[in-house]
Amino acid sequence: MCSPIRCCHIVSSSMLSKFSQHPDFDAKTRAALMQSAIAAAFARGERVASRFMAMELARTTPNNGKKDRIVYDAAGKSRQPSTPVRKEGDPKSGNAAADAAYDSTGATYDYYMDFLKRNSVDGHGLALKSTVHSGKAPDNAFWDGKQMMFGDATATGPFVGSFAAALDVVAHELTHGVTQYTVPGGGLEYEDESGALNESWSDCMGCVVKQNALKQDVKTADWLIGPTIMNPKYGKALRSMKDPGHAWEQDDQPAVYSKYVQGGDVHTNSGIPNHAFYLAASNLGGNSWDKAGPIWYKALSLLTSRATFAEAKAATIAATKALYSDSEVEAVTAAWKAVGV
Ligand SMILES: [Zn+2]
Repeated sequence: MCSPIRCCHIVSSSMLSKFSQHPDFDAKTRAALMQSAIAAAFARGERVASRFMAMELARTTPNNGKKDRIVYDAAGKSRQPSTPVRKEGDPKSGNAAADAAYDSTGATYDYYMDFLKRNSVDGHGLALKSTVHSGKAPDNAFWDGKQMMFGDATATGPFVGSFAAALDVVAHELTHGVTQYTVPGGGLEYEDESGALNESWSDCMGCVVKQNALKQDVKTADWLIGPTIMNPKYGKALRSMKDPGHAWEQDDQPAVYSKYVQGGDVHTNSGIPNHAFYLAASNLGGNSWDKAGPIWYKALSLLTSRATFAEAKAATIAATKALYSDSEVEAVTAAWKAVGV
């Protein structure tokens, strides 16, 4: 269920709504895109006190520290299936989307465990549930507070391929869970600057997990979110950390604080902290998972639910001081300064 807790979608309502007006697409595709836009907008507008989210999550039972994946297939329907297609340790199911979700949630789990010593999204081995071919998320993927929901790209639409196979998308969504469990008070409120930070932290860790899997350093990485699900006719990705505002034809992400959009979509203003992360990782050099990832991860626990960009800057600098030395502090400070924060 999306309600009563908020969902964090990978594709923003504004992007879906812009594509729903695109002359390239037939009426059926445009209607599906509009339906998805409304679902994402509804979720975004649904302000629920973060403590309810924490309570909701606390009711799910931890499994004492092992990777525990469960994948369901909704076959295009909105109802939650009761029988899994594949569980932890099962051989390949032959269901391509389910096997992709199994692999990408596993790769995300492994990154958090191997590099940050975190056991699943809650830190206590929460089972990683996914539902593929979800009718609730056409042309989208989202974390609903308890599990990953993967929709399918509408045929002849702006998206292609498998959302479940896109590791940056999956790591992005699971990081929304990590954020909810790590920021004191139950997460970052999904509007204004704290909402943009919520989105940004998911993009940052999505990039780190993907770059680690591909063994790409900060120079060779593409710094794109979702390049594999974007129909190249309409753009190269959903978002670009290196070059916000230029990932697709109507991309409106700002890269600097002076261009902050008042009342804008959280996926729009996330361009500013995203670019700060890209610059920090580039200044630090090497691989994003060596220093930038651990710094941003540690900073999460220093934020508050209504954190501003200035507070995020202070949190990442404090995290850097705790983990590294002066040269790293300079690298992170310069990155935020460059985006005007
Ligand atoms: Zn998100």
